[in-house]
Amino acid sequence: MSIIFSPIAGIDYPRNMQEFDSWFPDEAACREYIFRIRWPDGFRCAKCESFSAPWITARGYLHCRDCGSEISIIAGTIFERTHKPLRIWFQTMWLAMSQKDGASALGLQRVLGLGSYQTAWTWLQKLRRVMIRPGREQLHGTVEVDETYVGGAERKGKRGRGTHNKAIVAIAVEVFKPKGFGRVRMQRIADVSGACLVPFVCNVAEVGSEIVTDGWGGYNNLSDRKYQHIKTVISESGDPAHIAMPGVHRIAALLKRWLLSTHQGAVSAEHLDYYLDEYTFRFNRRKSNSRGMLFYRLMQQATATAAVPYRQIVGGHNKG
Ligand SMILES: [Zn+2]
Repeated sequence: MSIIFSPIAGIDYPRNMQEFDSWFPDEAACREYIFRIRWPDGFRCAKCESFSAPWITARGYLHCRDCGSEISIIAGTIFERTHKPLRIWFQTMWLAMSQKDGASALGLQRVLGLGSYQTAWTWLQKLRRVMIRPGREQLHGTVEVDETYVGGAERKGKRGRGTHNKAIVAIAVEVFKPKGFGRVRMQRIADVSGACLVPFVCNVAEVGSEIVTDGWGGYNNLSDRKYQHIKTVISESGDPAHIAMPGVHRIAALLKRWLLSTHQGAVSAEHLDYYLDEYTFRFNRRKSNSRGMLFYRLMQQATATAAVPYRQIVGGHNKG
């Protein structure tokens, strides 16, 4: 999914909190923004196929001027059936995107005065679920792959054993030469066997990529899958892991720090995937010039549905 234009700060998304407040003073303003994001090329009536600009009703419906049919602006979005004002949703998204490490449910509940921790937590979960676009591009070039254990103490040298109380996360990251990292992909896996690791790599990395792993046997079949597999045997090279594979080592450390600090280590294994999605969303957009851009991308994904008609889609990459 690639949009043909590059969104502009101050025009397509607010640049700061002051602009955010002045753009979204009420429900009507929030609805108009959702309308703009969902139908960037104009609305076409599904019933009579009229391109006439619809009229937005006070109840949040698009009313066709030609045939009179109506559809809800928020039908098929994550806002559908919400009982809270859209403005509170927008504030939540702004807070989650404008802070470097995101928002915690507790922080959100305090700042927005949401009635319950449960509501704040549920909203953040809903937002995390839309952070990963279906059909996103695979990683390519040189890609480091490793696994890490989340939750509980680190136990090096016991790979695949003694980990029943921890989650195993597979991490892949593009590595640039001479330095720097590209995009990341992460996924919770059941164990560190080839049956889990090889499908992970096949899912996240383009065929032909150079896959760098350590000497673990779970990666042995990668060269059969048309990857260039480079094994860094850490014990033989004598280099510690963070020198042999700096990318995944760094990502794993940052991920764990984020889970421990922002979320105080309170993420359960069953929900971990959604936090990985949020971390990935944020990491892959770390070079965005504006935090407002993250808000914009999240809004696009929160309002994107299969029902969105005539969205202009072109090939190519969408790395905003
Ligand atoms: Zn119509």
